[in-house]
Amino acid sequence: MKRALISDVHSNLEALTAVLQDIREQAVDEVYCLGDIVGYGPNPRECVDLVRQLTLSVLGNHDQAAIFDPEGFNPVALQAIYWTRIQLDLGAGPNAVNDRWDFLGELPRSYNDGPRLFVHGSAREPTNEYVFPEDIYDSRKMDNLFGRIEQYCFQGHTHIPGVFTDTREFFSPDECDYHFRLNGQKLMVNVGSVGQPRDNDPRACYAILTDDAIIYRRIEYPFEQTIEKIRAEPQLDNMLGERLRSGR
Ligand code: ZN
Repeated sequence: MKRALISDVHSNLEALTAVLQDIREQAVDEVYCLGDIVGYGPNPRECVDLVRQLTLSVLGNHDQAAIFDPEGFNPVALQAIYWTRIQLDLGAGPNAVNDRWDFLGELPRSYNDGPRLFVHGSAREPTNEYVFPEDIYDSRKMDNLFGRIEQYCFQGHTHIPGVFTDTREFFSPDECDYHFRLNGQKLMVNVGSVGQPRDNDPRACYAILTDDAIIYRRIEYPFEQTIEKIRAEPQLDNMLGERLRSGR
């Protein structure tokens, strides 16, 4: 069984298109999205329409904010979410029921497959909790999170890819040579972000899960096109484009 795990697309159509193309070349059986399909970027409708064709998705905090109530969002993210709502409404056509809302509204908060848990944030708070690399030094948090995981928890949300071990270590893709062997220990695996990487690498990131390894993929995409679209849209802060260039 070979699965591609993507997360944090954030309405970046150029990044998503490049990643889906790479996934097609990897001959995977299933593709899961771990949330935040929308928010920040310029193509929410197109990204929702592509992601809904995948095997399954879970709800991210930005998806939740688009359909329900944005909680704890900074002004830039909030403005992008209000703009996203309008965009999702626009594509419905004259008589169509806008089933993009239904798709987002019905996303589950987590998905369980045997010993594998799939969430946006964490095993404790599936939609909203961040687990950062430096949290390996917070033993209470780590004990709590690993206590909730049967074997593997796959997550996103921080946009920082890497593997957390039960022995309180964190391995970035660089540190494990893009290939982390599954050897039976409990793991939390952050699959990184397709549409807004924040680990100083501007390439889109996703992961492939096989029966014995996590493989990280980094995919170049024409981010200048995305930056240009963001610049052309007054409701989206230019910073949301600029950061794509640095991956920060
Ligand atoms: Zn996100």
